Amino acid sequence: MRYSLFSLIKNAFTGGSGWRPMWREPEPKKHYDVIIAGGGGHGLATAYYLARNHGLTNVAVLEKGYLGSGNVGRNTTIIRSNYLLDGNGPFYEHSLKLWEGLEQDLNYNAMVSQRGVLNLYHADAQRDAFARRGNAMRLNGADAELLDADGVRRLYPFLDFDTARFPIRGGLLQRRGGTVRHDAVAWGYGRGADQRGVDLLQNCEVTGFKIEHGRVEGVDTTRGFIGAGKVGVAVAGSSGRVMKLAGLRLPIESHVLQAFVSEGLKPIIGGVVTFGAGHFYISQSDKGSLVFGGDIDGYNSYAQRGNLPAMEDVCEGAMALMPAIGRARIVRTWGGIMDMSMDGSPIIDRTPIKGLYLDAGWCYGGFKATPASGWCFAHLLATDTPHEVATAYRLDRFERGLPIDEKGAGAQPNLH
Ligand SMILES: Cc1cc2nc3c(=O)[nH]c(=O)nc-3n(C[C@H](O)[C@H](O)[C@H](O)COP(=O)(O)OP(=O)(O)OC[C@H]3O[C@@H](n4cnc5c(N)ncnc54)[C@H](O)[C@@H]3O)c2cc1C
Repeated sequence: MRYSLFSLIKNAFTGGSGWRPMWREPEPKKHYDVIIAGGGGHGLATAYYLARNHGLTNVAVLEKGYLGSGNVGRNTTIIRSNYLLDGNGPFYEHSLKLWEGLEQDLNYNAMVSQRGVLNLYHADAQRDAFARRGNAMRLNGADAELLDADGVRRLYPFLDFDTARFPIRGGLLQRRGGTVRHDAVAWGYGRGADQRGVDLLQNCEVTGFKIEHGRVEGVDTTRGFIGAGKVGVAVAGSSGRVMKLAGLRLPIESHVLQAFVSEGLKPIIGGVVTFGAGHFYISQSDKGSLVFGGDIDGYNSYAQRGNLPAMEDVCEGAMALMPAIGRARIVRTWGGIMDMSMDGSPIIDRTPIKGLYLDAGWCYGGFKATPASGWCFAHLLATDTPHEVATAYRLDRFERGLPIDEKGAGAQPNLH
């Protein structure tokens, strides 16, 4: 069914009895043209664009839990395209443009809110680096504005400008950045894919790959063997474990990242703000909760919960930036598993096994990439050639010495 003002009014008068489930619960077929492992944002977006852009509908998404139970429903909802390097800039700008038309395309309210993303700077050298980044963004077609301290003060007067150890000198603002309701993205893409004939198979974990003469023939699952012409893996934090089932070792480590939500407050933060002297970022949800986070926990883990040291570090960042936050109570925290790559950038590529493709290495920035990742992975699966904005995301770039290292941190995944 299509959602519209008319359907809303009609269902209001019939006690909501006309609403239909958003997707079917089909039994697995014996064989699909394409199987996507992982029913997160990237897997569902890939299935949607396979059907929408390439007419491929004999497709299944295999999800070990329920749709959206992974990072797509656990992140802090920030979208932006403020990247420096050529390998990244056009890709993330493509993603931001897709976000801008997503709700009309999906006929689904994902609460896309372009409320602005502001990266604060606290020193002259940091200002110069942000000016360079802003210029690179503009060259790649994104928007960027460099603000001085007064410009920031006009937007966020309650931040600690003067008495802080790292006084705020200004910020790099991307007005088209913002937030999106994260789980609605999974639901919207899932519904759109299902409407086009894609089978969404929940509680269906991939437990092995059938590989004959160097080519993948299908996958073993907790619901039996399913044959496939091609298999795309988009399992985010589980990438290392799942690709190990195919005998491949990835340049990826899994780490926990936590998110924090406060009690509901009156509106105080209009957009997204990131602290430039520590790892801390914050926005306010439409319900009034402050939503914030910081660094990953810093050790390898597959547990979807974090520990106190990272929590303490995040709260210290919060207090340094806006001491008033000390009065707010945290009501919820949770963790997700990040697929941290060696250069902090993702992989959308074929693998050495014919018919097996990989979409991984999203670190803690993969939510904003969801539309472009799905678009480009679908393009690769359908045409066997990389999409023009994703040509740099090769699996072999690490052995060829072509990393895309935005932070210049080197091959240390927990620093990206
Ligand atoms: C706390 C936190 C904050 C974040 N904040 C941001 C942010 O503000 N902005 C941003 O851009 N990014 C952010 N991220 C990162 C972003 O959420 C991820 O990079 C992105 O969601 C990963 O892609 P995905 O949605 O496909 O992953 P997921 O939703 O994790 O999807 C992968 C799916 O694969 C399934 N799976 C795993 N193994 C198997 C198997 N064997 N068989 C079948 N299915 C399997 C999992 O159950 C899961 O549902 C954040 C992440 C976290 C945890």
